[in-house]
Amino acid sequence: MDFYGSDSQQLRLWATKRGLPAFRGEQIFTMLQHHVPQCFGDISPLPKELRASLDQAHRLCPAEVVTNQESSDGTVKTLFSLADGKRVESVSIPTRTRHTICVSSQVGCAVGCTFCASGLTGVERDLQVGEIVYQVLYHHQRRPVTHVVFMGSGEPLFNYSNVLAAIRLLGHPQGLGLSRRRITVSTSGVAEKIRQLADDEPQVTLALSLHAPDDESRSRLVPLNRRWNIAALLQALDAYSQRVGRRMTFEYVLLADANMRDHHAHDLGRLARRYGAHINLIPYNPVLQTPHQRPSWDQVERFTALVREAGGHATVRGQRGADIDAACGQLVLRKKAETAV
Ligand code: SF4
Repeated sequence: MDFYGSDSQQLRLWATKRGLPAFRGEQIFTMLQHHVPQCFGDISPLPKELRASLDQAHRLCPAEVVTNQESSDGTVKTLFSLADGKRVESVSIPTRTRHTICVSSQVGCAVGCTFCASGLTGVERDLQVGEIVYQVLYHHQRRPVTHVVFMGSGEPLFNYSNVLAAIRLLGHPQGLGLSRRRITVSTSGVAEKIRQLADDEPQVTLALSLHAPDDESRSRLVPLNRRWNIAALLQALDAYSQRVGRRMTFEYVLLADANMRDHHAHDLGRLARRYGAHINLIPYNPVLQTPHQRPSWDQVERFTALVREAGGHATVRGQRGADIDAACGQLVLRKKAETAV
């Protein structure tokens, strides 16, 4: 039973099937959402004997914290160990007015972007709903969470039904009640699911990990482009724009050796203008075992100016957590490397 991945209705049903009053399910839901207990023994509103018998029969908590790395800028990267021993990470990014959690949706990732640590090992499995939601609830205990971004390891649209259920659970009025508009799903370009997301949850913000504006460069960096090329993506984005009518974001990692020529800047600017998209330019954060080079600040400024000249609304994202391996998948990789020696 995925307790952290269930809503109050599902837990009421679960309780009645066990011969318990339905309100016990409701009590469990409220406690999970607001107190994040590790075991049933911590759920004080339940009778003592019931807590003991539930702990005998079920594992409540889907993850244990392995490490917390805190950066000098307040960013906290947390490595979780799941029930089967697999590991995933999430990042808490506090600012003066926001607390954003970057969550993982899969163990590893099948997409295999050449600049990303998560893609180096392939995908091991999808995360369950509770494993996704728990990453947020864990950080919510320290400070109320205001935003969630699906930008950790994994392609969220390859784990579509669980990501959708997690989004709905995070928005549950008796839980965190997070507005859909404060949740961003970042995809590397699963065209058919972009359309479906627009139908299922049109209020959720879409971020497209573009990283190159032409097929030749993009297929080299984001292998998924060979399945859904730029033309297929544009069709999906057209449908998304018509259905949703909200501003989307293009994510663009700046790799000095791969996607920063003048023609890349021009094409990127034009593409963003077509959708009124905001472009996040992200200077590459060097990752263990990947072949790319971080650009100089001069190169970043020049590229940004060219994108703007071409009509793109672009900003350069500050590098949060640079001292704590805060690029997706880096902490998992480092831990694997440490345990391998
Ligand atoms: S950047 Fe995202 S889509 Fe690409 S390999 Fe990494 S986790 Fe997967």
